[in-house]
Amino acid sequence: MIALKFGGTSVANAENINKTINIVAEKSKSKKLAVVVSAFSGVTDLLILAGKSASAKDKNYKNIVAEIEKKHKEAIDELIPLSEQSEIIDVINSNINHLKTLLDGCYLLGELSNRTADIVAGFGELLSSQIIATALKQKVSNSSFKDSRELIKTDNNFGKASVNFTETNTLINNYFKNNNQQVTIFPGFIASSADGNTTTLGRGGSDYTAAIIAAAINAEVLEIWTDVNGMFTANPKIVKQAQPIETISYQEAMELSHFGAKVLYPPTIQPVLKDNIPILIKNTFEPEANGTLISNNPSSNNNPIKGISHIDKIALLTLEGSGMVGVSGSSKRLFEVLSIENINVIFITQASSEHSICIGILNSDAENAEKAINKAFELEIAQGKIDKCIVEKDLCIVALVGESMKNHQGISGKMFSTLGKNNVNIRAIAQGASERNISVVINEKDVKKALNTLHERFFEDNTKQLNLFVMGVGNVGEKFIDQINQQKKFLKENRRINVRVIALANSRKMVFDEDAINLKDWKTALDNGETANVESFISRVKELNLRNSIFVDITANYDVAGIYDQFLSKNIAVVTCNKIACSSEFNNYKNLKDLSRKYNAPFLFETNVGAGLPIIDTLKLLIASGDKVNRINAVLSGSLNFIFNNFSESYSFHDVVKEAGVQGFTEPDPKIDLSGVDVARKILILIRESGYQMDMEEIENNCFLPDECMKTTNNDDFFASLINHEAHFNKLLIEAKEKDSRIKFVASFNNGKAAVGLQFIPKESPFYNLEGKDNIVEFYTDRYVDQPLIIKGAGAGAAVTASGIFADIVRIGNV
Ligand code: ADP
Ligand code: ASP
Ligand code: MG
Repeated sequence: MIALKFGGTSVANAENINKTINIVAEKSKSKKLAVVVSAFSGVTDLLILAGKSASAKDKNYKNIVAEIEKKHKEAIDELIPLSEQSEIIDVINSNINHLKTLLDGCYLLGELSNRTADIVAGFGELLSSQIIATALKQKVSNSSFKDSRELIKTDNNFGKASVNFTETNTLINNYFKNNNQQVTIFPGFIASSADGNTTTLGRGGSDYTAAIIAAAINAEVLEIWTDVNGMFTANPKIVKQAQPIETISYQEAMELSHFGAKVLYPPTIQPVLKDNIPILIKNTFEPEANGTLISNNPSSNNNPIKGISHIDKIALLTLEGSGMVGVSGSSKRLFEVLSIENINVIFITQASSEHSICIGILNSDAENAEKAINKAFELEIAQGKIDKCIVEKDLCIVALVGESMKNHQGISGKMFSTLGKNNVNIRAIAQGASERNISVVINEKDVKKALNTLHERFFEDNTKQLNLFVMGVGNVGEKFIDQINQQKKFLKENRRINVRVIALANSRKMVFDEDAINLKDWKTALDNGETANVESFISRVKELNLRNSIFVDITANYDVAGIYDQFLSKNIAVVTCNKIACSSEFNNYKNLKDLSRKYNAPFLFETNVGAGLPIIDTLKLLIASGDKVNRINAVLSGSLNFIFNNFSESYSFHDVVKEAGVQGFTEPDPKIDLSGVDVARKILILIRESGYQMDMEEIENNCFLPDECMKTTNNDDFFASLINHEAHFNKLLIEAKEKDSRIKFVASFNNGKAAVGLQFIPKESPFYNLEGKDNIVEFYTDRYVDQPLIIKGAGAGAAVTASGIFADIVRIGNV
C-alpha cells in the first residue's frame, strides 16, 4: 500500500481536484491507496477567522460561512454529475448547518473555547474529503471515504493534539483488515480525543495525518503531493534560484522543516522514520518532475549544505544577570515557565559564562512569555540579581542545514562573512550539537537579502548577482546599458557575475523592476516610468534591500554627487563617472572613503580620470603594494587634447570646440574643460588617491581663456566669446609654431604642489605625440624613479567611459 496526501492547493478547486483524482486513479491501478486530503486552499484560515469574528460579536462570520458554502457547492457542480449530487449536497448542507449552529452559539455567548475552535477549524477537511471521495467514485468505483476521527486518537490538547499511537495504530490496522477498498479517502488535520471531541493536529497537520496512517499500515512510501517540485534548497517564493533537492535524509528534512520549510509539517517525519518508510514530495501540477526523496540513505553530492530555511515573526528573549552564574536550575525554571504557558521554543543560545540565556519564540508568544518569565524570576529581579527579561521582536531565524557539515570546516565562517559583507547584522547564533544546522537570528527586513546571498554562496557555483541602480542615461549611460546587454551572458557564463539593472532614471523619469529591467527595451520602460524624484529613488533602493546593490551615477550633476553617503552608509556600492564628489572638499571625499570602508561598500570612480584607462586602479595597486607617488605629469583632458591637436590655421578654435562637443568629448558645459577646472579636478583626485591631502584652491590654474570668455554664463555666450577672441587663440598657434612645439594642457604635481595650464611641448617629450583625444599620465614613484610608469590611451568618449564604468562593476563582481 502507499499513503498519499494532497495539500490545499492540490484541492483548491474543481480543476485542481481533477488533477488530484487523475493521479489517484492512475496509481490505484497498481496499488492500494490511503489518500489524505487537506481543506480547499484558504478554507482553514477562513474558518478560524469566522470563529474569531463570531466570538467577537462580528456578524461577518455569516458572510464567511456563505463564501465557504459557495466554494464547495461550485466544486460539486463541476465535479459531480447532477444526477449523482443529491447525497453529497445533503452531506455538505448538514455540515454547513452544524458549522452555522456552532458559530451562532459563539456569537451569542461572545466566546470561542479551544474545543469549539477545533471543531470549527476541522470542517475544511471534512467538506473537501467527502466531495473528493464522491467525485473519485466516478472514476474508481472501489473507493470510499473514512472519517479520520474514528481512527486517529489524541489527547485533548486542542489546536495541536498529541496522538495516542498505540490506540491509533490498532484502529487503523483493524480498519484496513476489514475493508478491502482500492482507495480510501481521509480528511487530514482532524482527529478525536478519547471522550469523542474533535481535535486538530496543528496547522499544516494533514501531512502528519498521512504519516500516521502510512506508519500504521507500513506503507511502501508516503507521497506528499503539493504545489512545488519538492523540498527546495530554499523557499522558492523568496529565492528564485532555489532548486529542488533530489534526495535528503530524514534528519536533514526534519531540520529544514523545523526551521520553516513549510512544504513539510515538522512532526510528519517522526512516525515514518522508525520503519524507514521513504517520503516522496511531488508536485500535483507537474507530476512528471522527480520531486524530493526523503529517506535513510540519500545520495551524497559534494555540497555539505542541503538547504537553507527560515522562520519569520520571531522574538528574542534574553534573560541575564549575575544571579544566573553558577546557580543551577535557572534554565530549568525558565523552560518550565514557557512550557506551562504552552510556548514553543524554537531557538536557544546560552553564553558559556552562563551569564545570559537567549531564546527564540514566535512574536505572538512574546508578551505572554515576558510576563510569565518576569513573574517566575520576580524575587531575583527585585534583588537585582537578574535583569528584567529583554524582548526584541520582528526578527527572523535563518538556518543552514546539512548532515555532512560536521566534516567540513569553515562553513559558519563563510555564512557569517557572507552576511557581514551584505551588512546583515547577526543578533544571535546557535549550532546544534549534531552540527546538522547552524542558525542565526537576524532582522526581518534583511531576510530576503540574507537568504539570497547565502543561497548564492552555497548553491550557485559562486555566481554573484549584482543589482544596479543607474542614474543618468545620456550619451555615456546609453552606451553603458548597451554594453551590459551585450556582455551579460558572457559574464554569467565565464565570470559568474549576474548583472541586473533594477532601476534607471534620468532627470524626468525613473523606472524600477525588482526582477530586472529588460535591457532590450529599456527606453520604453523608462518612458513609461514614473516621474523622477531623487528622494524616492533613494528610499526605493534602500527598501528593496537587494544583495550587492550598486548605485551607478552617470550624470555630471552636483546634487547627485551629494547623495552617495546615503548609499554607502547602507552598504550600497557607488560607481560613478561624476567627478564632483571626489574633487569636492577634502573632508567630503574622505568621509565617502571612510563610509565605504566602514560599511564594506565599494566606492569606485575609475572614469573620473582618463575615462576607461586603468589609472586609478593602477595607482591603488601601487600604493597598496607599498610604493609612494612623488611626482605626476599628465595630459588629462581628452577634449583639450582633441581641441589643440585639431586647432590649425584652417580650423578655427571656435569650430574645433564645437566639434569636440558634438563628439561627446567635452562636458555638457565646455567651459569646465576649457577653463582647466576639469583637469584640475582630475589631478586633484590622483593626488588624493596617492595619499595626499589637497583641496581645489591649492591647485594653481593657469587659465588660457580670456576673462570675457570666463565670465559668460551660458553656452551660447561662451561660443560667441570664442569667436570674439579668435586672435588670442591664433596667437597661441603662432607661438607654438615658432617654438617648434605642440600645445598641450598639462597637469603636474611635484614637491607637494600642483598646477594645470597650457605648455608648449617640444618634440622630444613623450607628450608631443599624443594624438586625438588621448590621455597620458606619468607616475614618478619610489620604485619608478628615472623612468616613470606611463599609462596612455583614449581618455574621452562615451564608449570608453562606459566601459570604464563597466570595469568598476566587474571589479565589484570579482571581490
Ligand atoms: P500544501 O497545501 O500542499 O500542504 P504548503 O503551502 O503547506 O502546501 O507547502 C508548500 C509551500 O511551502 C510551497 O508553495 C512553498 O511556498 C513553501 N516552502 C517554503 N520553504 C520551502 C522549501 N524549502 N521547499 C519547498 N517549498 C517551500
Ligand atoms: N488545512 C489545515 C491547515 O491549513 C491542514 C493542512 O492543510 O495541512 O493548516
Ligand atoms: Mg502543508
